[in-house]
Amino acid sequence: MLLTGCSNDESSPAESTGSATDDKVVIITSLKPFALMIDEAYGDFVESSYLVPPEQSPHHVTLRPSAVNRLRSADLLIWAGPELESFLPGLLSRFGFEHVDAASNTSSTERRLQLAALEVLPAALLVEYGKSGLSDDQQTELPPGAHAHALGSVDPHFWLSLAAVEALLVRIEQIIVRLHLGDVSGRSAQGETLQKQLSGSRQAFMDRLKRSFPASGSAIVDSFPLVYSYHPAFNYLLRELGIPDEGYLTRNPESGVPPSAIAAFLETAAENEICMLAEPQYTLPVERLMAKLAGGAKKASRTVVADPLGVEADSFSDLYAGVRKALRACLGAQARPESDS
Ligand SMILES: [Zn+2]
Repeated sequence: MLLTGCSNDESSPAESTGSATDDKVVIITSLKPFALMIDEAYGDFVESSYLVPPEQSPHHVTLRPSAVNRLRSADLLIWAGPELESFLPGLLSRFGFEHVDAASNTSSTERRLQLAALEVLPAALLVEYGKSGLSDDQQTELPPGAHAHALGSVDPHFWLSLAAVEALLVRIEQIIVRLHLGDVSGRSAQGETLQKQLSGSRQAFMDRLKRSFPASGSAIVDSFPLVYSYHPAFNYLLRELGIPDEGYLTRNPESGVPPSAIAAFLETAAENEICMLAEPQYTLPVERLMAKLAGGAKKASRTVVADPLGVEADSFSDLYAGVRKALRACLGAQARPESDS
């Protein structure tokens, strides 16, 4: 299928004044990966775009007025939740977005709906913060209220979990049907046909993602290096692929790494084979950190850049395959120690 729909950045014109004429549902997402995912799954039925340029950290967002204005044209806004996009709740109330479940049943063309992924994903699919010893003392290092991300205990970086992606899409599908037909029950014959088309399209998309290699971490190595991440963007992926996760250095990359976390990292990392996953935005601080380690390390260490926001990606498949490829390099790039267990 040809992918055409995604109008990619915030500089793209905000033309649509309503969805009545072309009958595509207009979905605006907070972040690029969500728009890519919706476009690849449902591009024939929806028009999707995102608010935050992927070069910008979602933790530290300043939207241009043009991006803010585009909110007026949205039928539906998809975001992770206030744990991640702390800049959004104010805008959503300013533009009168209603929670999908709270919205009244009367159909109105003026209506704007919003859905926070973290609110609709089953708890079993969510990852909690705080597994790692590195991160627990970080709360005290942050100025109060500096970063909403640090307040919640749920890790909001859900989109590298295929199970979470699928659960979210299933939920979005129902809303697309509702918005498309103005049919709140979704029970008409037309609604059922559309529902089938959407779920067929979603399944084809999920199948593409599931074919990415490796299917599991143990398909690559018998014994894992200690896998760290600079910031916890990869927890969901690691868990889904059965790869033990040593933890992350900072929840709030804009504020740097607390000295206590650096000390703990250096101590553990010096004794073990490690791999650090770093996002393109943070390669510099990671390089500095790894340089500190290099002097004292007794075993191999490496840094692999992986991009969960898909700065360069044209599709979600592209983004996802890129991250898995990086992970593969992280696990298997060097000869593994012979006699570990
Ligand atoms: Zn983050």
